[in-house]
Amino acid sequence: MTAESLEIHLASRPVGWPTAENFALVRVPVPTPGPGQVLVRNQLISVDPYMRGRMNDAKSYVPPFEVGAVLEGGAIGAVVASEADGIAPGDLVLHGKGWREYAVVDAASARVLDPELAPVSAYLGPLGGNGLTAYAGLLEVAAMKPGETVFVSAAAGSVGSLAGQIAKLKGAARVVGSAGSAAKVERLLALGFDAAFDYHDGPIRESLRTAAPDGIDVYFDNVGGDHLEAAIGALRTFGRAALCGAIAQYNATEPTPAPRNLAAVITKRLTLRGFIVTDHAALSGQFLREMSGWLRAGELRYDETFVDGLENTPDAFLGVLRGENLGKMLVRV
Ligand code: NDP
Repeated sequence: MTAESLEIHLASRPVGWPTAENFALVRVPVPTPGPGQVLVRNQLISVDPYMRGRMNDAKSYVPPFEVGAVLEGGAIGAVVASEADGIAPGDLVLHGKGWREYAVVDAASARVLDPELAPVSAYLGPLGGNGLTAYAGLLEVAAMKPGETVFVSAAAGSVGSLAGQIAKLKGAARVVGSAGSAAKVERLLALGFDAAFDYHDGPIRESLRTAAPDGIDVYFDNVGGDHLEAAIGALRTFGRAALCGAIAQYNATEPTPAPRNLAAVITKRLTLRGFIVTDHAALSGQFLREMSGWLRAGELRYDETFVDGLENTPDAFLGVLRGENLGKMLVRV
């Protein structure tokens, strides 16, 4: 009997919030690796907000997912068969074929991990793309300098919690975070944020004014919408915003309102700069050295939220969009 593997396909394109009907759990034969490939049994799968954009049939910086095909994204698994030099059965590898139990991966796109260096899940969080996003967005895109005041939105999430802590480690005078619950606010203060607020508690503009009465120099934007408008209002002359994500609008079915105060960008000479992490790959070496050092020294902490079972991957993905995660959302297969 052929061994089987479970995988999650995109059954249809969501309109607005994805629902269970947009996903299908499909049984397929376990694939066979060809020359230069390895067969991996996935252990951890990353679910990320950007995947919502790939579910639309729209031109973007990555091609859309195909309807009827398996979804994909970051994952870590153990090699069970290898047709590639340099990768052996038992090796743990980081690769891009998530949303499935077994994956055939080109050796060239698999990175062998050393579990002695760090818990491997960290390679999907602080030591991976999320870490580089926070690092590059803050230090290269927003060019944060010591002594500045920084505001981070979705601050209890994976990228946000790292961005806020990196800001402190790099000498920010004050770091403010916003998040979606009192428990998350408490966690931000425990992670070393100087102030934090629940954005449901009142107009963001007012909460931000209370948390940063003298204004902000840098805004790390994960949310867009009202958050961006409030930040533009709070930014001081020559302030900078790194536009990383706009999660408030990923499920919108109508065009979302733009910040109404864009004229302040002129009068205050602000810089609002969007970025995609892959444009900053040249920083990888420096980032990994610094981030590993902070983690080893216990100077930077990261949270993880686990959902168990491959079949629950769509729920885990929806959970990230709904804010059910503290830190990085991962599926344990
Ligand atoms: P997170 O771990 O931060 O999870 C997303 C969080 O967004 C949720 O936990 C939720 O927390 C918050 N959220 C959801 N809806 C809203 C809303 N309407 N208003 C305010 N907050 C909301 O995800 P990531 O760390 O993976 O990603 C963070 C952001 O960075 C995303 O926008 C993502 O698209 C972007 N990103 C961009 C990259 C780039 O290259 N530019 C690379 C990687 C990520 P809460 O409970 O606080 O609402």
